[in-house]
Amino acid sequence: MVRVVAPEVIVDEEKDFSIRPDRLESFVGQKNICDNLRIYLDAAKARNETIDHILFSGPPGLGKTTLSQIIAAEMGGVLKSTSAPLLTKPGDIASILTGLDKNSVLFIDEIHRLPGNVEELLYSAMEDHKLDLLIGEGPSARTLEVKLAPFTLVGATTKSGSLSRPLRDRFGISFRLDYYNINDIFHILQRSSNLLTIQISNDACFEIAKRSRGTPRIANRILKRVRDYTSVSGSSLIDLSLTEYALEKIGIDKIGLDDLDRKYLDYLFTIPNRSPVGIETISAILSENKETVEDVIEPYLLQEGLIQRTPRGRVLTDNAVTYLLSFS
Ligand code: ADP
Repeated sequence: MVRVVAPEVIVDEEKDFSIRPDRLESFVGQKNICDNLRIYLDAAKARNETIDHILFSGPPGLGKTTLSQIIAAEMGGVLKSTSAPLLTKPGDIASILTGLDKNSVLFIDEIHRLPGNVEELLYSAMEDHKLDLLIGEGPSARTLEVKLAPFTLVGATTKSGSLSRPLRDRFGISFRLDYYNINDIFHILQRSSNLLTIQISNDACFEIAKRSRGTPRIANRILKRVRDYTSVSGSSLIDLSLTEYALEKIGIDKIGLDDLDRKYLDYLFTIPNRSPVGIETISAILSENKETVEDVIEPYLLQEGLIQRTPRGRVLTDNAVTYLLSFS
């Protein structure tokens, strides 16, 4: 079953682009990033140059793709989006790069997953706007230099630590997106409700904001699910009691945890003396792979101060114990 609180995109859920901000001014929160981007964009435009290559890092669902679209729109260029797992050989990236026009933005999601030989081709493309293509094989092989139009590469990663040093160094601008505070999520929900013509009371909106794990994608998704419950109940206004009812049915608790998170915490709770537990054991208990546990489930539990990662394994914090005891 798909988790409502999963931060990754669920197939087709964002095909309705009407709520995705298309200008920096409608992008809520991440003020420091927006202020800096505004300066870099204006400066590049004033010099009639492309903006420097940009790396966005941070958990899924926080706005990396949205910002890349905004950058392309601001620069008046075309956005070409791809994802590193789709670029399996040098020819894949070469054909994309040679098709770019001046001011185009090339967005590569999960850029830490690029194969080495594809990544190497990017170096000269990023630095000198040229490609050195190897033609032929063996002794008769030769390199062909292909000039590229000036473009901006926007890379997104959930694991900036996994990026190779040479690639990271070629990004002139690097931003880390953090989880949003409740007020920002509240504003994002109000903006989405207006655009989707959903009527929602302030306290209901705040309740959804509290349970959205600081993640706009999750907030928008919960809003749409609560809207479903509301319309089935025959009401046109989402109020607090309908919201609480819907969230209980969906299985999202007061602090935004779902069954999988609780299973994680409940398991650690059974360990005597709160001894550390290895990631492999936790993955086996949850029937999830290690990457999902590390990249999707744990970041929010860590952020909420419910678990700690230690060299010997994961441990519950006092906060988590208080939270779990509140149910007994
Ligand atoms: P990421 O690329 O980091 O996984 P996205 O850019 O795809 O995240 O954002 C996920 C969804 O959340 C988008 O549909 C967008 O509408 C919404 N969103 C993200 N950031 C914001 C924001 N700052 N203001 C309003 N909506 C946002």
